[in-house]
Amino acid sequence: MEEVRKNLENKIIFLDRDGTIIVDPEDERVDREDKIKLFPDSIEALKYLADHGFAIILITNQAGISEGKINIQDFDRINNKVLEMLAPSGIKIIKTFMCPHGPKDGCECRKPKPTMLLEAAKEFDIDLAKVYMVGDRESDTMSGINAGTKTILVKTANVPVEAKQATYTAPNLLDAVKYISDNYIND
Ligand SMILES: [Mg+2]
Repeated sequence: MEEVRKNLENKIIFLDRDGTIIVDPEDERVDREDKIKLFPDSIEALKYLADHGFAIILITNQAGISEGKINIQDFDRINNKVLEMLAPSGIKIIKTFMCPHGPKDGCECRKPKPTMLLEAAKEFDIDLAKVYMVGDRESDTMSGINAGTKTILVKTANVPVEAKQATYTAPNLLDAVKYISDNYIND
């Protein structure tokens, strides 16, 4: 882990997946590989992060598992496909944290709870106050606020979303990552 930390230069970003990196389908469930569709600027945005020394951690709610639409193996296969689509551009996701529960399950991990972010912080020795949690829903920004990160709402959800408490609201992921790079406090 020491070696990983050195290479990461302490710059980490937490990213939601569905609706943020890939388009949220109308049924809001990415339950087949053929439903994976990157936003037009996702590669450019994530490459921008990689080129500016940021390491990316995915933080994703997957209620489709609780609903029986997919199982954990399906999720892993679909998520690996997303990672494979990014890898040729030099974009590496260091880890994906996933909640398999639905809103009614009463779990401890589903965003807006901060649990997945706190687990990531513990595993990678992350200073949460420096980190941005970026997502397309208020549950994303609230998970960041609950964990003590800065937050960005990207307006790429397939429904209208407001997140008044977000540090910044971005029209798209590319704008969000440029904001983060410009405003990152590296002390
Ligand atoms: Mg989302």
